[in-house]
Amino acid sequence: MDYGPSPESAEVAQAWLERHGRRFGHFIDGAWVKGPKSASHFDSTNPANGKTLAAIAQGDAKLVDRAVAAASAALPAWQALGGHGRAKLLYALARALQKHARLFAVLETLDNGKTIRETRDADVPLAVRHFYHHAGWAQLLARELPGHEALGVVGQIVPWNFPLLMLAWKVAPALACGNTIVFKPAEQTSLTALLFAEICQEVGLPAGVFNLVTGDGAVGQAITAHPGIAKIAFTGSTEVGKLIRQATAGSGKKLSLELGGKSPYIVFADADLDAAVEGIVDSIWFNQGEVCCAGSRLLVHEGTAPALLAKLKARMAKIRVGDPLDKSIDMGALVDRTQWQRVSGFVERARAEGAEVYQACATELPQGEHCYFPPTLVTGVDTASEIVQQEVFGPVLTVQTFRTPAEAVELANNTRFGLAACVWSESITLALHVAPQLKTGVVWVNTANQFDAACGFGGVRESGYGREGGREGLREYLKPIAAKGAKATKSAVKSAKTAKASTALVAADPNAIDRTAKLYIGGKQTRPDGGYSREVWAGNTLLGLVPEGNRKDIRNAVEAARAAAGWARNSAHGRAQVLYYLAENLQAQRQRFVELLAPFSSEAAAAAEVQAAVECLFDFAAWADKHDGAVHQPPMHGVTLALHEPVGQIGVIAPDDAPLLGLVALIAPAIAMGNRVVAVPSRRQPLVAAELYQVLDTSDVPGGVVNLVTGDADALAETLASHAEVDALWWPGAAAAQCAKVEALSVSNLKRTWVGEAAAASLHDLHTVLEQAVQVKNVWVPYGV
Ligand code: NDP
Repeated sequence: MDYGPSPESAEVAQAWLERHGRRFGHFIDGAWVKGPKSASHFDSTNPANGKTLAAIAQGDAKLVDRAVAAASAALPAWQALGGHGRAKLLYALARALQKHARLFAVLETLDNGKTIRETRDADVPLAVRHFYHHAGWAQLLARELPGHEALGVVGQIVPWNFPLLMLAWKVAPALACGNTIVFKPAEQTSLTALLFAEICQEVGLPAGVFNLVTGDGAVGQAITAHPGIAKIAFTGSTEVGKLIRQATAGSGKKLSLELGGKSPYIVFADADLDAAVEGIVDSIWFNQGEVCCAGSRLLVHEGTAPALLAKLKARMAKIRVGDPLDKSIDMGALVDRTQWQRVSGFVERARAEGAEVYQACATELPQGEHCYFPPTLVTGVDTASEIVQQEVFGPVLTVQTFRTPAEAVELANNTRFGLAACVWSESITLALHVAPQLKTGVVWVNTANQFDAACGFGGVRESGYGREGGREGLREYLKPIAAKGAKATKSAVKSAKTAKASTALVAADPNAIDRTAKLYIGGKQTRPDGGYSREVWAGNTLLGLVPEGNRKDIRNAVEAARAAAGWARNSAHGRAQVLYYLAENLQAQRQRFVELLAPFSSEAAAAAEVQAAVECLFDFAAWADKHDGAVHQPPMHGVTLALHEPVGQIGVIAPDDAPLLGLVALIAPAIAMGNRVVAVPSRRQPLVAAELYQVLDTSDVPGGVVNLVTGDADALAETLASHAEVDALWWPGAAAAQCAKVEALSVSNLKRTWVGEAAAASLHDLHTVLEQAVQVKNVWVPYGV
């Protein structure tokens, strides 16, 4: 049996383009905006045949400004509409997408080059599902996430590989939560976003709620820089993601980054090889490999490799590459000639380095300049090869072998990225043993490239942070409503701010033996590397000296924290017990802490602060075994396990206003969730550190789980922010200039930051704090016989 041509008609899509005169403006405040007469346009072309589809307007900073103004003006009424009002509009959008499903699918295929089979069966249905799912969230939000509110105007920037789907992933949750939007599609693929703007008009979405400015990266830069925007949601390359992190540093903008990947596809010896081969086709040849989470590195058990590769080559020869509008075609065209050259460049350089390149498909590719690239298999590579380390973003699969599960994990994690992974084994025990060890945001067991609105998607390391989909994705568009009055850490001491120093408590005791405060690193009290100390004063009274930690001390502390990674493998029950024990021992040393804190407030306020710190430890001990993940049931025969994993090593700068409570309120949630901490105690009363490590020492906290380095907070924060082994930096209450500095430095390894006034204002909301302490890994496990 052979395949005949099965062309999909482009008539309706072409008519739609004609209706618009094949020339588009921007969509701002519910209306089409042409921009100045002189405004330039650029062509959007069909990569399958090089024909121009339409002229797209090039936006600029002025148009972005206008769009932000419209979005701001629309906010009050949009929020006043309430959850049910917004749910009805999201539902209407889902329905309208369904009503125009084929037009969207054909238009996407024309604009991007991806096959009609995929746009029809994957992109559009998944986009529809997102709007339905989030209509539900709009309806439930007030009851399910009380105490939260929308962020305001959000800026959303997407790439060209899933233009409509990325729009849906971003727009649906933002609208559900009551935000308004300024959106920018990639310049190669603006058409389905423009059609979406039209259906916003059709369903009566209030003017200004969704605004669209088309154009190149300069428009993205203008959105990123705009002071009226509260959050940037970006999907694209790691390089641009880093630029956006730099550009937003210190601005207070919330940020989610969905960046590149180099995902491993691990096949164990006991895998169902035929199924694994089909999985590979879905993983690396779906969407021409232009998929951020494409399984581009095949890691196969050494003994299984020959059989798997033979099957794979046979399957490759059946893949049909060609006209993406033909329904019997498996792979269409790459998005443009530039991308084609980029992909070819990687393959040719690998060949020149000595790799073997195998290409096959069932169809003849056109001669001359075109955007088609055949399925490609590259063997004879090693871990350092460019093609193994860099994201190709095309239909190119590399192959490496392993002997043991441990070696497979090591190879899988040997990349700067951390988006997704596939694990193929008939042994569920082996698969679920390996999945938690993979440094990725998603793991697919015996399947590949599954997505659903109920399951969060996103990465770790240089694949970015933040999730799209699921409850965790929703939270990206919300913030806790600020507590009435002061910050949580201040509340315990608020009544005593102006109290006089209690000199009696610090009066020299003739019988006292001098106590030397030290740093606390790896469970040991250590002297500072630099050999300097700093004085601690309360008014005119010298309370004592603390060590002046430096960058070497921080490095040692991070090393100790890394070595204590076993803490994460402790059961939550075990961690809870340690936290309760800490509370018990803190309570036992209550008087000593009161003495240290009272000179800065009053004895009553100090006692209240110690009491609040004990309660705080109880709070997070209680949450340690309760802030766990979820099981989702996406539309497949199987389950998705949303696991809460610790973030890793967290750098913590304690606030000054409540030296003990502020420190404990950050350390406790971090370690409750299995993280290790390098903390810089408050500069106001760092002597609490010396008492706290006595408590840590007697409470069964393993060495390295909590490290305390006193010294200049600014300098130490900068060292933590630029350290490659620190995975997150917390500095609630940091001033704008401090935030700007550490957020800019965090770019090096794209560590998560939780800093500034917004972080301080959310300290009272334990769920927000706990969310900072975890990252969600979604493990997809299909079942059936
Ligand atoms: P880019 O990062 O080049 O572009 C992404 C978007 O950002 C485009 O709209 C682009 O505009 C815009 N942009 C470019 N420069 C800037 C800037 N300085 N400031 C703000 N915005 C800017 O990625 P590609 O479009 O080339 O997409 C491919 C990349 O996206 C791959 O690396 C892939 O891994 C990643 N990706 C990640 C996904 C994920 O979920 N993790 C999903 C899909 C893709 P324009 O292109 O119009 O100039």
